[in-house]
Amino acid sequence: MTVAAAPTELDDTAFRGEVVRPGDPGFDVHRQIWNGSFDRRPAAIVRCAGVADVIAAVKLGRASGLPVCVRSGGHSFPGFSVADDALMIDLSPMKGVRVDPEGRTARVQAGVLLGELDRETQAFGLAVPSGIVTHTGVAGLTLGGGIGWIMRKHGLSIDQLLSVDLVTAEGELVKASTDENPDLFWGLRGGGGNFGIVTEFEFRCVPLGTHVLAGPIIWPMTRSGDVLRFYRDWVADAPDELMTILIHRKAPPLPIIPAELHGQPVVMVVPCWVGDVEAGQAFLEPLRAFGPPAADVCVPKPFLAHQAMLDPSFPPGRWYYFKSCDIAELTDEIIDITVERSLQISSPLTSFPIWQMGGAVARVGDDETAFHGRTAGFTYNIGACTETAEGFEAEREWVRSFWSALEPWHQGVYVNFLGEEGPERVRQAYGPEKYERLRALKRRYDPDNVFRLNQNISPD
Ligand code: FAD
Repeated sequence: MTVAAAPTELDDTAFRGEVVRPGDPGFDVHRQIWNGSFDRRPAAIVRCAGVADVIAAVKLGRASGLPVCVRSGGHSFPGFSVADDALMIDLSPMKGVRVDPEGRTARVQAGVLLGELDRETQAFGLAVPSGIVTHTGVAGLTLGGGIGWIMRKHGLSIDQLLSVDLVTAEGELVKASTDENPDLFWGLRGGGGNFGIVTEFEFRCVPLGTHVLAGPIIWPMTRSGDVLRFYRDWVADAPDELMTILIHRKAPPLPIIPAELHGQPVVMVVPCWVGDVEAGQAFLEPLRAFGPPAADVCVPKPFLAHQAMLDPSFPPGRWYYFKSCDIAELTDEIIDITVERSLQISSPLTSFPIWQMGGAVARVGDDETAFHGRTAGFTYNIGACTETAEGFEAEREWVRSFWSALEPWHQGVYVNFLGEEGPERVRQAYGPEKYERLRALKRRYDPDNVFRLNQNISPD
């Protein structure tokens, strides 16, 4: 067997994919990530065409001494997937998806986006649990855990993960599953990009069918206190078929929302019922009777349509800022703070979701994976959004101040919803015991911290 020598300088012939440098025509396109508030210029971008390119890129990163950043879907909130003067290893050209409808599995390369995976699985009435915006990357989302519309019924993305192929910091391809390198497989299910570059995921697919009962039920935001109190009691004994996200925002001018509400502050409960539609309608009945809502567009619809429903609210290129925390329950004090702060939202683009957790997510043992939020009641993802830099600072201050007001009730934080908030917050995302276990893995797989532009688990 001939093994290619490690490239020590950027030589285009060392790669099957394109190498893009500052000044090249595609440079300003390929260095863009989703969050428009980051305008960074890497030293070079290697657009990997396959595993061999990833191996060569990792070896080049080490030999050149350049910091390495890894991009798949480019949706990192804190912008870790692009860095000034770094070698950007871009997996986005790796788009292969192969669904085995008989065996109910899917092999998914690292550059695949959620909507692309859904399209392939839904052709067979199957699904892999993932997130709520179709242009998010499967890779980064899965490596942090993966929460979404069907998680209360079918678990997190990592709960359906069977194996991964990964290129280590030494540039070696290894497989991780419950049988092979099980310790690494444990760490990859929540530990992010700390241990290497995943080139391919193998998932179990769940039988979902093609339709769900889903969509927003909307009230004016002035009714938020009543809605939240009713909602809290109503979801307390919800079956796993029901997942909800509660959103405070100014109503966007979308066709599904009545024109008279456009631009008005509203609170929306967005159910997604995965199962028998009649049973779902019956369960939703009390929520609908409470009110009445200003609009109700919760209807049976294709799963693919629901997965894409929030896409227009989170387009790439806008300026975004998030701070997140888990809480155990929606107490009266938390509800009062939520109502007061939501009424202060000024940007028409800011949209702040509260996620209902629990169900199948909570039934997997906490120590089975590195993901640490299985006992959370709700996840607050307080987000600000503006079209450009104008007004961004004020909206960001709103996020910080709201998040601080909830601090007495913080339970933990989902690592994929963290910003660049420092090592202590990363430790909080895993808890002290898991953090130490992850650190031991990091010492084994990446002792030099080659993969450090991430929610970093320091080997030191
Ligand atoms: P990238 O920016 O490409 O990657 C982020 C980081 O992940 C990289 O810096 C790297 O450290 C690591 N990484 C990426 N690819 C690889 C790889 N192949 N191998 C090793 N490490 C890698 N999360 C949810 O759980 N559920 C949601 O519904 C959800 N919705 C979102 C909606 C939007 C609009 C956005 C912006 C984010 C959302 N998130 C959600 C958070 C999301 O999971 C994270 O931002 C995730 O990191 C995005 O993955 P990516 O591949 O798109 O990002």
